[in-house]
Amino acid sequence: MSSKVHFLAWDRKDEFLQFLKITKVFSHIKAKNFLAIKIHFGEEGNEGYINHQYTKQVVKIAKEKTAFPFLTDASTIYIGKRSDAYHHLIVAQKHGFSIENCECPIIIADGLRGDSEVSVAINLKHFKSALIARDIARADKFIFMSHFKGHEITGFGGALKNIGMGCASKAGKYAMHHNSKPAIDVKKCKACGICIKHCYQNALSVEDGKIVMDKNKCAGCGQCIATCPSGAFELNWNENPNLVQEKIVEYSAAVLKNKESSYINFLNHISKFCDCFSFNKNKPLMDDVGIIAGTDPVAVDQASYDLVNKIYGKNFFRELYPDIDAEIQLKYAEEIGLGSRKYELVNF
Ligand code: SF4
Ligand code: SF4
Repeated sequence: MSSKVHFLAWDRKDEFLQFLKITKVFSHIKAKNFLAIKIHFGEEGNEGYINHQYTKQVVKIAKEKTAFPFLTDASTIYIGKRSDAYHHLIVAQKHGFSIENCECPIIIADGLRGDSEVSVAINLKHFKSALIARDIARADKFIFMSHFKGHEITGFGGALKNIGMGCASKAGKYAMHHNSKPAIDVKKCKACGICIKHCYQNALSVEDGKIVMDKNKCAGCGQCIATCPSGAFELNWNENPNLVQEKIVEYSAAVLKNKESSYINFLNHISKFCDCFSFNKNKPLMDDVGIIAGTDPVAVDQASYDLVNKIYGKNFFRELYPDIDAEIQLKYAEEIGLGSRKYELVNF
């Protein structure tokens, strides 16, 4: 069965509020629901994150339904400005996500140090249970606002990535990344040391002028792949990094278990890397496309993926990452019942 998804072209983005009202993204919201609006506030120096003007409009409708909306995200496992709640909130504020601008509270859902979590039983292929940020798990309803763009490990990042990886506590994120330890081509290493500064696990060092990795310490976060200016790191296919996509999907199943939710993807500022990187890694590579909304995360991501590729004229994500089959996340999500890859696109 196909799912209905709604599309607003980017040149009509000023009509976002009217667009939201004709979609079903608020149909599950009831009075006094604690509504978690899950978003990525953008790493410091990043410019691809969703603008707070859009979250404000989602909050406005949620409040008209007398719900209790709040913006939320969880801590990262890499070293950056969002790896604990204290610094995460400061970056969010710098990026415009203040209570005044957003007209709702902002809650970092896994607590001060990223270890406030609940275990959700799922009994799937890779995980029997998943560690979800506590205040996300405690919310009544969800709306996921996701920036759709390329991703260094999963090919693209959209709603499924925002749900599965974005709502996990630090321990949950480690569990998903565990099998994606990069391979190193030491001939390319210029011994600049940049990757060492970004490796939160202290797994990297330079010995005899070349980079060395301690695999026992590496957690497979992918930061070194994205930060090395010489391209010395790459995904290690012997360790089957495609597993990460399936693991993210299983975590998505845990987050959504017994919860009603809806999804709004922003197809603008479409970059090669995710919003965990600063602007020099995050430049937009094509014109802004628009906004896709619906109540099926698989359909919303599939429609986003198809639309970007259609407008680009060929598979944009395969061109960015020839070795990553980004459709694995869509196929597996459909297989375990999170939604449908078939959709009906309704233009606003
Ligand atoms: S960032 Fe790249 S070039 Fe620099 S030390 Fe690390 S592996 Fe070598
Ligand atoms: S070596 Fe690379 S992938 Fe492993 S923990 Fe360090 S930055 Fe992350």
